[in-house]
Amino acid sequence: MLGRAEDAFRIVGLAAGSRADVLAAQIRALRPAVAAVANIADLALLDLPAGTRGLAGDDALVEIATHPDVDLVLVATGGIVGLRPVLAALAAGKVVATANKETLVAAGHLVMPLARGLASSVAQRDPGDPYASPLAWLRPIDSEHSAIWQCLVGERPDSIARLVLTASGGPFLDAPSDLSSVTVAAALRHPTWTMGDKITIDSATLANKGLEVIEARWLYDVDDDAIDVVIHPQSVVHSAVVFRDGSLKAQLGTPDMRLPIQYALTHPDRRPSPSAAVDLVAAGRLDFRAPDLARFPALEIARGAGRIGSRASAALIAADDVAVARFLAGTIDFTGIPRLLESAVRRFGEGADQTPDLETLSALDGEVRATYTNDTTWSVA
Ligand code: MG
Repeated sequence: MLGRAEDAFRIVGLAAGSRADVLAAQIRALRPAVAAVANIADLALLDLPAGTRGLAGDDALVEIATHPDVDLVLVATGGIVGLRPVLAALAAGKVVATANKETLVAAGHLVMPLARGLASSVAQRDPGDPYASPLAWLRPIDSEHSAIWQCLVGERPDSIARLVLTASGGPFLDAPSDLSSVTVAAALRHPTWTMGDKITIDSATLANKGLEVIEARWLYDVDDDAIDVVIHPQSVVHSAVVFRDGSLKAQLGTPDMRLPIQYALTHPDRRPSPSAAVDLVAAGRLDFRAPDLARFPALEIARGAGRIGSRASAALIAADDVAVARFLAGTIDFTGIPRLLESAVRRFGEGADQTPDLETLSALDGEVRATYTNDTTWSVA
């Protein structure tokens, strides 16, 4: 937990997709005014105390995100479920801190104008106000993007020359050379971070890093060709910025998500946290190398989708959800994941409209999921 968070924050609303048991425990501890689950049948499992109103269904997240008592919305949903609530929150002038990549990958063209609009209205009054930056309104929790944000505080956007996203390389960085027979258990054994299954598999394929390149392009308004991906197995340098004078700034920390989560909540302040600082002497050495694009083709497939546009990126993330679920279920092998992604980007991602509206994005998401959930092309015998 945060250092003395109870002094600084009051939880107004809590929501969960399916883990009603975990949510019920949080409700008992934090007594929010509203609580929401995806399915109305789960509401009874929450055992709501007096003073907490229960909500369910599609509109519940929007209602919580725009609640009059809410100042900051923390988003940790998967897929594009969080997109409509994020747009509603920003439209209502709330700060959004997001751990969800899909919001920007699929819909950066819808989300960023709202964050920029909020920032520019502050900048007109006081250009030196911390809220004059879009990053104060749309705050990244992803460790790489938090690192870049921390490097950019106090810097002008036109000073940026390049961004450097670091990647641990995942469990198959050096072996085996043939990835078609790796097991689910081996793929889930991430060397440095403890995360959910979906993102752990995305780290093993490097698809995650491709999604992060797209996320970074939107957040920092930088082109794809100005972003480098560097493998850094120790996960101590979380990412870096190269400035036009040749100076490189990096943010270092122990691999502990509590630090980027806390920074997104307390920015521009820094407060004591439970995360210990990196001990440089104990770390001893830090290694860096270029990614192996032949063994990990998902990185370039994902970056390519980002270069095509938001339609292709949306097709990519829907396909990746299906591909990872199918790998975990044993119906495709590890190398089937990038092949499925490539197929989805080609089949659904190309097209003139690369700035789809919310309805078009939802329809595309459903179509890609339905297609690849049932397609047996990559099935293992
Ligand atoms: Mg990350």
